[in-house]
Amino acid sequence: MNIKDPKQFTEDFMAYLQAKNQGEPEFHQAVLEVVESLSEFLIKNPRYIHFKILERMVEPERVVQFRVPWTDDKGDIHINRGYRVEMNSAIGPYKGGLRFHPNINLNIFKFLAFEQVLKNSLTSLPMGGGKGGSDFDPKGKSDNEVMRFCQSFMIELTRHIGPNTDVPAGDIGVGGREIGFMFGQYKRLRNEFTGVLTGKGIDWGGSLIRPEATGYGTVYFAEEMLKTRGDSFKGKTVTISGSGNVAQFAVEKVLDLGGKPVSLSDSGGTIYDPDGIDRDKLEYIKELKNIYRGRISEYAETYGVQYFENERPWGIKCDVALPCATQNEISGSEAETLLNNGCFVVAEGANMPSTYEAEHKFLDAKILYAPGKAANAGGVAVSGLEMTQNSMRLSWTREEVDEKLKSIMHNIHNMCVKHGQEKDGFVHYVRGANIAGFVKVANAMIAQGLV
Ligand code: NDP
Repeated sequence: MNIKDPKQFTEDFMAYLQAKNQGEPEFHQAVLEVVESLSEFLIKNPRYIHFKILERMVEPERVVQFRVPWTDDKGDIHINRGYRVEMNSAIGPYKGGLRFHPNINLNIFKFLAFEQVLKNSLTSLPMGGGKGGSDFDPKGKSDNEVMRFCQSFMIELTRHIGPNTDVPAGDIGVGGREIGFMFGQYKRLRNEFTGVLTGKGIDWGGSLIRPEATGYGTVYFAEEMLKTRGDSFKGKTVTISGSGNVAQFAVEKVLDLGGKPVSLSDSGGTIYDPDGIDRDKLEYIKELKNIYRGRISEYAETYGVQYFENERPWGIKCDVALPCATQNEISGSEAETLLNNGCFVVAEGANMPSTYEAEHKFLDAKILYAPGKAANAGGVAVSGLEMTQNSMRLSWTREEVDEKLKSIMHNIHNMCVKHGQEKDGFVHYVRGANIAGFVKVANAMIAQGLV
């Protein structure tokens, strides 16, 4: 491998990765982003190359895949596939969400688990990285069907997780309801009440602010970025995608900080509310999505605003964009539209929502652009705080947790600036986050020997 030229180093490493992991485009994309921004640093610090840290980091410590049979309300049998990718435990037990979505596969979980390792390191809490889930689609299922699926899923997953081994949380399609069903089944199978999952209900071991943490954290991070230009959310027009957990609480915090959220979306399309999504409308969305499990198009009917079927919000003029739905939801041309419309802040609430082309457009334009592993780390950070509270068998107040969340996001921002600031003052948040996250894990791996 050429260790003089960063570009060649990246190309050689990617050729190695692609040969070993064929047909895994999202995993390749996530690794490319990291290697590209680390290559210069690695060449200056050759011991990481000598110890083959990158090669080891892209190889999961363990992957489990299993059959999940369950019966629907009519008694018909269904077979889904379950996964857990235990990527890296150098700095703590594996930690990362479970995703239930029909379009997942091992490649998606490897990309998410890889990102999770660096993200968890950035929080400064002792958490390794993992990710998992299933191709089960909770949409359109009854509560009883979801419960039967979760119970069957946990029958196998229980062998692989534990409060000191691997502590899963929620992600797309896995919210409080699913965590509850899985926690109940784990407790029954193991006969122990431990903090084996995070995102639990507040009366049974959950942490205050955990549901809010990812959305709030993303907005806190964006506010930190704005501060570097002497600016704030006050009066800013904000487009947000998604309408699930992360998007809802991003809207809430944007309102707290004086911004105007004007869009939300789901897999059916986008609503555009030029008057702004206010607190009453947000309550309507929470009820629509979390209780009735309805579609975002119903918002447009209720409030008489525009609905763009099968479209994403990036054609709407805004100052700040917060993608909070899913991976690769901003294409290169959508990034260009955002930039042409004056958008100058993009903070990723979702994991890898920008395509490779979009990311490079944002970086080339030198706007305030933060990758998910920095901007959305608030969720896993408060999961880490939930683990601490479970171990100590106590509960912190809402204010205490919120203060800790704010301070963690502030520290992550500082680390990104420390490692990512360029001579002209521009902060390359992608490079900053990748170097800061990498160093801690890499040093721990070296200290622990060839494991
Ligand atoms: P939810 O399931 O609560 O919400 C997901 C939202 O995104 C829904 O509105 C959903 O619409 C939409 N969506 C999902 N897939 C697609 C798709 N392929 N195309 C268009 N829209 C889609 O998930 P979360 O809010 O928890 O997660 C959103 C993002 O944030 C994910 O990338 C996740 O990995 C990331 N994240 C979440 C954390 C958390 O704490 N929950 C922590 C860190 C990151 P529909 O209902 O129609 O599918």
